[in-house]
Amino acid sequence: MEVITTIAGLREELYPRRAHAQIALVPTMGALHAGHLALIEAARTQCELVVISLFVNPTQFGSAADFDCYPRTLERDGQAAEAAGVDYLFAPSTEEVYPAGFQTQVEVADVSRGMEGAARPGHFGAVATICLKLFNIVQPDRAYFGRKDAQQAAVVIRMVHDLDIDVDVRIVPTVRDTDGLALSSRNVHLTQRERQAALALPEALAAGRAAHALGGDPVGAAREALTEAVDVVMDYVDTMRLNGQSLLAGSITVGSTRLIDNVILDPGAQEVF
Ligand code: AMP
Repeated sequence: MEVITTIAGLREELYPRRAHAQIALVPTMGALHAGHLALIEAARTQCELVVISLFVNPTQFGSAADFDCYPRTLERDGQAAEAAGVDYLFAPSTEEVYPAGFQTQVEVADVSRGMEGAARPGHFGAVATICLKLFNIVQPDRAYFGRKDAQQAAVVIRMVHDLDIDVDVRIVPTVRDTDGLALSSRNVHLTQRERQAALALPEALAAGRAAHALGGDPVGAAREALTEAVDVVMDYVDTMRLNGQSLLAGSITVGSTRLIDNVILDPGAQEVF
């Protein structure tokens, strides 16, 4: 695996290999866990060349404190990526991505509204912009995103469609811990007690899914479960569409950590992969 920090360097590496290999891109902010590894594994089985980007994108954070606290484990990430079969790890500096004078932003209007878009103003514009930059830099055949961040995936899919970007976006199912909590880089901030309380989110979404299967209201059932949960502040529960599937998505705050999760509502639905 090669670690590359410049846009020109990555382009130079990929240019001669492009004609003979399908290129996969896995965008991440690092602090790699088994969820990221599932994306890499999907990429590796479907493409000859795997590029993973590792960039904690400052523009998509609401506060400097949240950005500063985001876990950074570059050395360990490099080892994990290499062991997972990544060919190129692209880890640019902030100045490389946003040189002086940078001023362009992509906005995906409707899909960015509500849920995470309401909780984190400006977030999806920043996400769409960095994804478009990465698509232009790598020019991948396929790009891999997790269903865990379902609204983000929906924003990227909409942008790719609207802007005629020649990339096949693949959505990988959410990887969970054995107790059901969706893996997230932010989980390291949870105390043991908070981690226990955080299980209320997957449990509430499961309750919503069960209610839906019986013809009931999934949003109401999940909200009720979260209202009764201890040490948890509910942000939202809502339904959304992703790749033709209905999802029940929710967000909670436990202590100072904000978590998101979702489940597929359609009974017996196959994961999109
Ligand atoms: P992040 O580093 O948090 O920006 O995530 C990078 C990519 O990994 C995004 O496409 C996420 O949706 C995906 N991802 C994060 N957590 C998980 C998970 N538990 N299961 C599957 N994909 C995930």
